Amino acid sequence: MLDDQPTEYCAVCDKPSRDRDRVHRGCEDRIRDNLRQLPRLYRQLGDALQPGRRGGDGRSATRSAPLPCSVDALDLRSRGGIEGVVGGWARDLCEREEWDIPAYTSVEAIVDWACGILLANLGVICDEHPAVKEIAAELNQIAGQARRIVTGEKPPIKVPVACPCGQTLRITLDSPGERCRNCGAQYGHTELMGLPLAERRAA
Ligand SMILES: [Zn+2]
Ligand SMILES: [Zn+2]
Repeated sequence: MLDDQPTEYCAVCDKPSRDRDRVHRGCEDRIRDNLRQLPRLYRQLGDALQPGRRGGDGRSATRSAPLPCSVDALDLRSRGGIEGVVGGWARDLCEREEWDIPAYTSVEAIVDWACGILLANLGVICDEHPAVKEIAAELNQIAGQARRIVTGEKPPIKVPVACPCGQTLRITLDSPGERCRNCGAQYGHTELMGLPLAERRAA
């Protein structure tokens, strides 16, 4: 079991950890940044959905085909979007700690509450939570998606790199880590960035 081993690898990125921390300080900071930004991103996605709507009683609003970015923004703002990720992990935390889960009805209130309680307990989560890696990855994924919509950025470009076993791994430059599907080698961020680019093979 992982729990019985001495702390040698970061529980988030699998990179060796020189200090005794279970999670690198940098990896913890990244989770914290995402949790701090998600409530604001949630509201900014709402702004992205309202292109200068004015007047009208709401009932007569014409239903035109939404832009792809509004569909994504809607998904992220709906129950199960950002709420599904942060709310799910916050409820998981409450169940572990046997805390009451507040009965919020608005998605925005759940997002605020969930990010707040996860932030307040981030130290414990990094020290003890068995799924801290999944938490970090899901927060990073959903915050990245929200940021790209808010800023109008393109999705990150995937770069093919070669595992020594010959397998090509398609990674993004901010990938926290990746496991080779072929040989099972586990790479942290820095190791991934050190892999040679995969040669393009003629089709
Ligand atoms: Zn780490
Ligand atoms: Zn490999």
